[in-house]
Amino acid sequence: MGFSALASRAVANHGKYSPRQGTAVRYLIVHHWAGTSGGDARLVNPFEAVSASYILYSDGSLVGQVPEEYRPWTSGSWDADAPAVTVETQNSGGAPDWPVSDAALERIAQLAADLCRRYGWGRLDRSRVRGHREFYATACPGPYLWARLDYIVQRGNQILAGSPSTTPQEDDMTPEQAKQLKAVYDATFTTSETSRGTIRGVLGMLKIVYDAIFKSTKTSAGTPGGLLPSMKVMLDQQAEILSRLDKLEPRE
Ligand SMILES: [Zn+2]
Repeated sequence: MGFSALASRAVANHGKYSPRQGTAVRYLIVHHWAGTSGGDARLVNPFEAVSASYILYSDGSLVGQVPEEYRPWTSGSWDADAPAVTVETQNSGGAPDWPVSDAALERIAQLAADLCRRYGWGRLDRSRVRGHREFYATACPGPYLWARLDYIVQRGNQILAGSPSTTPQEDDMTPEQAKQLKAVYDATFTTSETSRGTIRGVLGMLKIVYDAIFKSTKTSAGTPGGLLPSMKVMLDQQAEILSRLDKLEPRE
């Protein structure tokens, strides 16, 4: 059986697992690292007696460690792990909430749906998606993930019902078309503060010139010729463009 097809690769487990002794897989136990880094190093360290069925990173990549036919050493309890597939999730932030990324959350829901299909659970509910703290005196998973186990169940059932994944999908554009679109987008929406400043400076100078000419012309007998009104229209248009640029959300 090995690993879910969702896993992109496998890492060493150094024999840190036990037989399931005939116990059927009945649920997924969700864990977090309590850290944005280092949790995976501990799991793959041959001298640390911990392992997991899966290690999940914030970019959504799922890595297999202990093949599913074996009991992983994740939850500190034979009773908890014997019927469990476990996933150790990298945090995207620290205490007190210990959040995880949206990509990781979506991947847990996909994994739950995949287990549900392969082990014939029918449908997901909270008896199939468990938190480590249900079995052991621990704050794992942290408040953010713990509060989202119901969401994972709901999302997993959507996936089982055929709802497309929210994981970003390739679209139909060719790479060349995508490049062109990005160039247009960048040119349209990412005018930098520096170039805005330059445009504003030039416009300011033009305005001074305009005012100087217009005021001196106004006091003289004739009406301004065609040049000055069209300059005024141009200045007003540029000012309008600048104010629209200023209203655009700055990019991160
Ligand atoms: Zn845990």
